[in-house]
Amino acid sequence: MPLVCTIDVEDWAQSTLDTDLPILEHAGRNMEHLLDVLAEEKAKATCFILGKFAEKFPGTVKRIAAEGHEVASHGFGHVDVFRLSPAEFREDVRRSKAQLEAMTGMPVKGYRAPDFSIVKASLWALDILAEEGFVYDASVNPAGLARFGVPDWPAQPVRLALASGRSLVEVPVATLPVLGRRLPVAGGGYHRLLPWPLIRYAINQLVLRNQAFVAYCHPYEFDPDEFSRVPFVTPLKMRLHQGLGRRGFETKFRKMLRGFKPVLALSLAEGTNWPSHTPAF
Ligand SMILES: [Zn+2]
Repeated sequence: MPLVCTIDVEDWAQSTLDTDLPILEHAGRNMEHLLDVLAEEKAKATCFILGKFAEKFPGTVKRIAAEGHEVASHGFGHVDVFRLSPAEFREDVRRSKAQLEAMTGMPVKGYRAPDFSIVKASLWALDILAEEGFVYDASVNPAGLARFGVPDWPAQPVRLALASGRSLVEVPVATLPVLGRRLPVAGGGYHRLLPWPLIRYAINQLVLRNQAFVAYCHPYEFDPDEFSRVPFVTPLKMRLHQGLGRRGFETKFRKMLRGFKPVLALSLAEGTNWPSHTPAF
């Protein structure tokens, strides 16, 4: 089983600080830079694109599609799913899917929730995704230490048998089983802080056992100087937590792409007859 490289395409301040903030100009530049990196490394990624980002940078969305990456949905406004009503959630994903399909002329089949916010209390969202025509979801984090997650969720992809009778493939981010616990090793802050040999070890542990390693990152993690450009007050603790390890991130990311040829999340979801799983609500 392969590495799957996923990118949540968004702006740090709008997605992390306050969802009412405008998308900043440098968010587009950061994504363009990340596309340059992928082109140089001849690697393809699955891009879960936020609607508000796509609205501001339609040219970047077109470039993502033109360069053979997968265009998938990160919803429209980056509000956590468990803060939305089912009707609001449906509206958010429908708007995002229609927008990306209009921009690229191609069907959007994958979805990832903001902050992995499909948790026990918001599993109802999976039925809505199936009804809205998504083929797979990548929103559940099965790691024990995750901020949001479902710790007893299957750690590898499954075909969900939903209450409505519909089905959806769930593609969870990677976790490493150690002493009966599932460690979060899939990306983001963990890849910023862990040294490359440990990241490589974690990926090898899964791919050598014929399991998928679904990694994730954000364009802003490639920008070590972002905080000098953010025109809003950001608490020191948040700047440290969110900024630590950004300077070495790109080097590790390139090593990951060179060491493990990534495939798209959609081909992982559609490529195998995954075991069935009935979510317990
Ligand atoms: Zn996000």
